[in-house]
Amino acid sequence: MKGLVICVCQGTCPSFSKINVFELGNKFRREKKVDFVAIHPQLCASDGDNFWKVLLSSGDRISKLIVAGCAPEMQLKMFKWVFKEMGFDESKFKPVEIRNMTTEEAVQAIEKALQD
Ligand code: SF4
Repeated sequence: MKGLVICVCQGTCPSFSKINVFELGNKFRREKKVDFVAIHPQLCASDGDNFWKVLLSSGDRISKLIVAGCAPEMQLKMFKWVFKEMGFDESKFKPVEIRNMTTEEAVQAIEKALQD
């Protein structure tokens, strides 16, 4: 299964003000380009750790995991440990930066990651 998780710094960060996250997630759902979509307010907080632990307890069923949010290198730094702890194959993780983008620009960035 392919999944899209969108993270938006609690929805209060100006970097995400040009994106309609619901429109973004719905586009990929409607077109069936991914098998599941989730919007999380703050994946790098402790409840984000819990989210990963629950989601990745079935990590072997995930073939690709797009995480749309902050910079890829930041994401990797923050999530690497939990992927390791949960035995999730890091090569399935596709971090995508969507900060300071419009909804349409974010769509294109995610589309590209889905094709890679
Ligand atoms: S993981 Fe990145 S996008 Fe999500 S809340 Fe943390 S800094 Fe913001």
